[in-house]
Amino acid sequence: PVVARAIHLHKQYGEGESEVVALDDIDVEFRRGQMTAIMGPSGSGKSTLMHCMAGLDTPTSGQVFVEGREVSAMGQKQLTNLRRNEIGFIFQSFNLVPTLSAEENILLPLQIAHKPIDRDWFDRIVHVVGLGNRLGHRPSQLSGGQQQRVACARAMMQRPSVIFADEPTGNLDSRSSKEVLEFLRRSVRDYGQSIVMVTHDPRAASFADRVLVLADGSITLDMDHPDYEEIL
Ligand code: ADP
Ligand code: ADP
Repeated sequence: PVVARAIHLHKQYGEGESEVVALDDIDVEFRRGQMTAIMGPSGSGKSTLMHCMAGLDTPTSGQVFVEGREVSAMGQKQLTNLRRNEIGFIFQSFNLVPTLSAEENILLPLQIAHKPIDRDWFDRIVHVVGLGNRLGHRPSQLSGGQQQRVACARAMMQRPSVIFADEPTGNLDSRSSKEVLEFLRRSVRDYGQSIVMVTHDPRAASFADRVLVLADGSITLDMDHPDYEEIL
């Protein structure tokens, strides 16, 4: 079962002399309940691929589907709807609202979308993510790892079809990274969560079921249960 796919996905910036091909005719499928790591050097197209998949960026040509619906053909209203219902985001810089508590941050997307709050689900996610008695704390009162775990819980709250994570451990020390990755892993194992994660961190990639490597806008390696010796 496929949760998201790209068909002949092409993205270029600029024209003529200044033309940059960020994605060169990419075909890829992301499967349900799978955690995929996207690796590759800086400038290889990782962010562009993820942004096109998530409807944050528009491809020059080609198609993107999430849950069988064509993202690349959606208008603004449908995209907003898609992001509220089908897609969760985790960013390198956490992107929490500084004036709100951890709990308020976790619930904010549901409130903005006027969606009901499933308290059982909230309790389960908060328990798994290990925030304990810190739910009333503001982001500035939390460590980086704790802030990222709040962001993970926020992404899980709406039960998205797929979570896109952009360098989720990029600002974290190795212990906090491990906690965040273990949570993501558990969300795959226990809830069948689908995750697509851009990372430079080989340890982060080692948590994934599958690794894609990009170079110059093309997929140069696509391995299930990869042998990291071979990649690194
Ligand atoms: P990453 O650390 O994920 O590789 P970058 O630093 O390459 O991110 O890019 C950060 C943001 O800047 C992205 O949203 C990307 O679209 C944008 N960006 C990257 N390169 C350029 C560029 N040459 N001109 C304008 N924007 C760019
Ligand atoms: P990565 O995430 O692997 O670092 P990006 O997807 O950010 O790569 O960028 C791929 C290529 O597209 C790079 O050459 C980058 O400079 C270029 N690029 C990305 N965003 C923009 C933009 N907004 N304007 C111009 N060029 C961009």
